Amino acid sequence: MAAFDDLMAFQRETEALGEVAGRLGWDQETVMPRGAAEQRSEEMAAMEAVLHARRTDSRVGEWLAAAEAPDAAGQAQLREIRRSFERNTKVPVALASEIARVTSMAQGVWAEARASEDWATFQPVLEHVVRLRREEGAALAAGGDVYDALLEDYEPGTSAAEIEAMFGELRAGLVDLRARVLGSDIDLPRLSGTFDEAGQLALSRELAETFGYDMGHGRIDKAVHPFSSGSGLDVRITTRTSPEDPFNCFYSTIHEVGHAAYEQGVDRAYLLTPIGRGASMGVHESQSRIFENQLGRSRAFCGYLLNRMKATFGDFGVSDPETFYGAVNRVHPGFIRTEADEVHYNLHIMMRFDLERSLIAGDLTVADLPEAWNARFEADFGQAVDRPSHGCLQDVHWSVGLFGYFPTYTLGNIYAGCLYEALEAAIPDLDAQLAEGHLAGATDWLRDNLQRHGALMTPPETIERACGTAPTPGPLLAYLNAKFGGLYGV
Ligand code: ZN
Repeated sequence: MAAFDDLMAFQRETEALGEVAGRLGWDQETVMPRGAAEQRSEEMAAMEAVLHARRTDSRVGEWLAAAEAPDAAGQAQLREIRRSFERNTKVPVALASEIARVTSMAQGVWAEARASEDWATFQPVLEHVVRLRREEGAALAAGGDVYDALLEDYEPGTSAAEIEAMFGELRAGLVDLRARVLGSDIDLPRLSGTFDEAGQLALSRELAETFGYDMGHGRIDKAVHPFSSGSGLDVRITTRTSPEDPFNCFYSTIHEVGHAAYEQGVDRAYLLTPIGRGASMGVHESQSRIFENQLGRSRAFCGYLLNRMKATFGDFGVSDPETFYGAVNRVHPGFIRTEADEVHYNLHIMMRFDLERSLIAGDLTVADLPEAWNARFEADFGQAVDRPSHGCLQDVHWSVGLFGYFPTYTLGNIYAGCLYEALEAAIPDLDAQLAEGHLAGATDWLRDNLQRHGALMTPPETIERACGTAPTPGPLLAYLNAKFGGLYGV
């Protein structure tokens, strides 16, 4: 037991330092002065060096060799520590801190390039990031598939080939549904008018608490891109407002609350340990998506939201619940992934999945990326990209080196489809509860059946434990066909 206890005590301090590093990232996106970027990138590189040294400390290897887990949770802790140790010992410390330094700077270059439609300035920086991540991936893969090695950081135990098979099935169904919806005579309404920021922020805070967000262990700030960060007793979210589009604020908030609820819902016994967090990015995304879409955009909950919006903003021109439900779920082809509806969203992801695999494989150069992006977008969406910020400059992910991350969004949607099917079976009067703004039945079910386990099980095991069957795209497609087939009469 001594080796196990020593290892866990050391690991707990590493986890605590990891939380500190994460909070530096939160600070950078919310309240950091603009002029601090250069210093911050050095601070983050220094933290990364400290963390890397701890994660590769030779004592960890010795403890792992000698440790005996006292129970199933202990075995899961050893599995996660071993995975991290093996991963980190394969990457030279100089490369790890170089990646931290370059991606921190690249993010700033990307933000300015996007604002000024300036691909040329960003291109060499992205080339640098891709080069470093390919180098890292090669070290991790040790002769195996480089992209799969990168994927392991976000969705452990999953390969690009498995994802491709699932995406293929989903894609066929989505392309068919999209064609039927766009061919429909029905054009759903959109909201008009402006909605004051104070009202949006007040109602989004109310919605966060309605969905179970614990403000005693969290806070909501504004950021350009909404995100959640932290774990255990300090899980923060951000949101944003847009005068003409209050749904952007409300559904961004509900989405991030889904992520935060997962972290807040993990068994407190796992606090500051490797299994005291979500099982993977895909499982994480399943929580945010089911909160946002299956629950938040349901007909039943939209009726409740309409009344809360009337109470907040007065008469805003929509009073009929069915019209409001249509406005929330209106299908519209567009350039921007984060603004995509449920029918289009996963098609955006599949495109990024294919492009980033080509970049990592070396089949596509960064210089050729805009052309490849625009050609694929026109083929899939029927529109010519008119400017870089509507094309390959729109997402932050690649600038910060997140290759292998995009597919977890669609995996999350697939998982959410499975979980919603199980949730509906478990709570027969779910719609009646949602119509009253009572989310606790659904959020308690998710916490009890999934969230509390943290990373105790592997990602597919986590979903299967909650749903009773292994995840497939079938339930998501059935849900989308029923919902949008109904809305558009197709
Ligand atoms: Zn998310």
